[in-house]
Amino acid sequence: MSQPFIPFHRPSIGQAEIDEVVDTLRSGWLTTGPKVARFEGEFARYVGAAHALAVSSGTAAMHLALAALGIGPGDEVITSPMTFCSTAHVIVHLGATPVFADVRADDLNLDPEQVARRITPRTRAVLPVHYGGQPCRMDELLALARRHGLAVVEDAAHAVAAEYRGRRVGSLGDATAFSFYSTKNLATGEGGMVTTNDAGLAARMRPLALHGMTRDAWDRYTERGSWYYQVVDAGFKYNMTDIQAALGLHQLARQEDLRAAREHVAARYTQALAPYAELVETPTVRPEVRHAWHLYPIRLRLERLRIDRAEVIERLRERGIGTSVHFIPVHLHPYYRERYGFREGEYPVTEDAWIRLISLPLYPDLTEEEVDRVTRAVIDVLTAHARPA
Ligand SMILES: *Cc1c(COP(=O)(O)O)cnc(C)c1O
Repeated sequence: MSQPFIPFHRPSIGQAEIDEVVDTLRSGWLTTGPKVARFEGEFARYVGAAHALAVSSGTAAMHLALAALGIGPGDEVITSPMTFCSTAHVIVHLGATPVFADVRADDLNLDPEQVARRITPRTRAVLPVHYGGQPCRMDELLALARRHGLAVVEDAAHAVAAEYRGRRVGSLGDATAFSFYSTKNLATGEGGMVTTNDAGLAARMRPLALHGMTRDAWDRYTERGSWYYQVVDAGFKYNMTDIQAALGLHQLARQEDLRAAREHVAARYTQALAPYAELVETPTVRPEVRHAWHLYPIRLRLERLRIDRAEVIERLRERGIGTSVHFIPVHLHPYYRERYGFREGEYPVTEDAWIRLISLPLYPDLTEEEVDRVTRAVIDVLTAHARPA
């Protein structure tokens, strides 16, 4: 094909982000400092949380929250198998046991009934993932957690700007972890944020994010700083830099516009693919949520097609369309199979979805023409390989 390739993702970096990074580079202060402090304050206000702590990744944010809650050996944490591996890795890193519960078929989010069935006397926390940017059924999950005395730490890597019953994700559970990885809706290259309304939890997380020290570099090296500090914990090196925060400040300021642009692309995909519902399922949105639209995952109706998911992806690539798959279920990766004995068939809803899933490009800078090329290619490939009903 002579048409230019449409990549799966392109970040939306504007002049304001570039100018702010240059300003940081000229400021003489590169690591955690005034811009991180501003970013934390503005992010907390945006999501409606009392506290926000900027960190080096979404993985670090989840690890920190679970560590500060005291999760450790002998504990079980229930999470979704339909996620990126690091959601489960952080549980393993603490010496605790990851327990998966199956998702619901409509939104691929944790099924509260399946979570209830996995609770044991060792369960300490639930770690729901807001898949693709659509919030989980938080009322049900929070009620269940309260009944059993469990903490709720959310993986909101996809869910900046998402809302549940009129409240922003980031203000709902005990702690919420966001990712600012390059492909995410708010991108700082690498980075993350953990928010909480619990002052005690925030106070435990902050030193834990920087070696367990009582003062950060800004408190030590600036004119009004002091050289003295104490180490109160064997903490991690999870702090965010002012260079990352410079990007984050402007990505945050543009979030509402960026979300609206993604929602517009999603609506066009849904409209264009609706007549082909016998060949492909498109994402649905529950009425009580505002979707962040991080992903646009379609599910092929394989029984109606003569080719499988891998071949569809290859045909789309030939037509210049980049796609991805979210996710290879965590329990099917060799590490989890070998260490914990997980097998195929244990999470039927997750597994049925995974062999049919393809994520289409979804970002604000997609042009109308590119959106049309994507839908045309999907429709052409599927109809060319359709099986009669
Ligand atoms: C991206 C992602 C993460 C990890 O975030 P990092 O910032 O890369 O550490 C965790 N969970 C989900 C669902 C993700 O998509």
